[in-house]
Amino acid sequence: MLKGRPMNAFTLNRRAIMLSAVAGVSSMLIPSLGGSGSANAQAAPPVTANAGHYRFRVGEISATVLSDGVIGGPPRVYASDAPEAELQEVLRQVFLPTDHMTLNLNTLLIETGGRRILIEAGAGKTMGPNGGRIFDNLAAIGLDPTDIDAIIISHTHPDHVGNLRTADGGKTFPRATVFVPKADWDFFVRTDPDLSYMPVPEEFRLRFAANIKNSLAPVMNDIELYEAGAEIVPGLTTIVASGHTPGMATFLVHSGSDQLLLTADLAYHPVVNVDNPWLPGPDRGKETALSSRRRIFDRAAAERMPVLGFHYPFPGLGRMLKTDGGYAWVPANWQF
Ligand SMILES: [Zn+2]
Repeated sequence: MLKGRPMNAFTLNRRAIMLSAVAGVSSMLIPSLGGSGSANAQAAPPVTANAGHYRFRVGEISATVLSDGVIGGPPRVYASDAPEAELQEVLRQVFLPTDHMTLNLNTLLIETGGRRILIEAGAGKTMGPNGGRIFDNLAAIGLDPTDIDAIIISHTHPDHVGNLRTADGGKTFPRATVFVPKADWDFFVRTDPDLSYMPVPEEFRLRFAANIKNSLAPVMNDIELYEAGAEIVPGLTTIVASGHTPGMATFLVHSGSDQLLLTADLAYHPVVNVDNPWLPGPDRGKETALSSRRRIFDRAAAERMPVLGFHYPFPGLGRMLKTDGGYAWVPANWQF
């Protein structure tokens, strides 16, 4: 069914966890004699990953952040207009590396009205080796790709559509209808887009453009094109947020008086695009993106809404605060 997908990785992880638990038990039972306990610990395979799913509710809707892993690049790419010395200083102040910025891939599963809807497909391996973790994280909550009924894409960059294609070119989510913004489809899929606005090497741009078309090819017959501004499934409204790409949308998940705002790629990392007002280099229309960012961040701050940032540190949940000079990101407290 899902040839080439690492569906057994979770099994391996579980085995690793069980083995390390056994090692822990035996080192408790056997008194430590000249370091035999630590020899046992070294023999046990390491637990390779932390939990990559996080559950919460939006009214009657069950929501789960499912990490697809991480991507990243030089901080300059995500803060195109930052003065170099200031950028370096800001990153140092918050204990982040100054030569590489890590971006998370926080896809969101919502379960409502008997349907399972995934918001963003994730990167897979299209933007580096550390994507494609969503399958382990679906398995961790007892699901697999056949359980997904619909996938809503904010914009067609590879880190949002990469997982739609299996390694051998098939459909990863065989039953899912895939909702894609029409203006992105027209720009990235129907034409050969000029991506010279992106501050990356030409070779990267070509691969980026090809990965968009390749990722969407297997689902050509399952695509529903949408124009942002409407409720496209019950409980999920799309909000116009163009600028980053021609068609990018953000989302409001709502149930009763509860709501959650998904900001897609209005910002990459809160340190450079929320707490500091720097412009993401990959924004195609910098001014349009800036006005979308302000309009939607202002609303989030005014309504004190819970917010999910697709690329923010996992699980990406928090709130926007309006400050004298701009905004501040306030991460949500962990809920057990
Ligand atoms: Zn992105």
